[in-house]
Amino acid sequence: MSNLYLLRTYATKSPSALPPSILFASSSFTLTIYDAFPKSIFHFLVLPRVQPESSIGLSELDSLKTLLACKKENARSLLIKMAEDAKEIKTQIEEEMMKRYNFMWPVWIGFHGAPSMHHLHLHVLSSDLCSPRLKNKKHYNSFHPKLGFFLHIDEVLSWFDGEASYYSEMSKLDVKAYESLLKEDLVCWRCESTMKNIPTLKSHLQEEWDKVFRREKARAERKRKMEEQDTGETGEAEHREKKSKSEN
Ligand SMILES: [Zn+2]
Ligand SMILES: [Zn+2]
Repeated sequence: MSNLYLLRTYATKSPSALPPSILFASSSFTLTIYDAFPKSIFHFLVLPRVQPESSIGLSELDSLKTLLACKKENARSLLIKMAEDAKEIKTQIEEEMMKRYNFMWPVWIGFHGAPSMHHLHLHVLSSDLCSPRLKNKKHYNSFHPKLGFFLHIDEVLSWFDGEASYYSEMSKLDVKAYESLLKEDLVCWRCESTMKNIPTLKSHLQEEWDKVFRREKARAERKRKMEEQDTGETGEAEHREKKSKSEN
């Protein structure tokens, strides 16, 4: 059984105390770790570091719900810092996508409405949901980008701009209401078809991903050929030039 306080343990440590197999990056405010059970090809967690001098205490860092219950301005500034660091991680994911796949696909950044582990953590994951670790309905629905359980960071930040009543309504984050979303039918997040079970969904998501992969690969191939043609022409011109020089 996993330790539900493991993330808190990490967040209290100095980055140098964490092995590179766990820690991916750090800043003065956050630590980014590899999700131990990635639900997509790329999946990281951004954790706010526990700092004694911080205006936000350890118990307030437990979840989005506890954070939003503390002073509004403190909560907002912490979320903005987390969002900035998450966007940096997103850039690094995109670089890795280019290296490995030669194309990029969107990256989602968000919280779970009712998290399963203690200590606030922002998920940063590639939009594919293709992973052997994705094993059940709860896993899938918790990352479905339109179901409502996965709260995109920009959406959460927008709560601060609304009326006070709207903010207090959204920041309630009723666990039961969010958990009931996890029981919803399995629906493909790309094409909205209903899937009868997890194996069907998983092979469908794999097909969807393969389609994207083939399309993008063909596009990259066309681009490469066009570039090759261009350099081929200049290459020939150079060759002709050299040839005429040597003939002189
Ligand atoms: Zn989580
Ligand atoms: Zn689909």
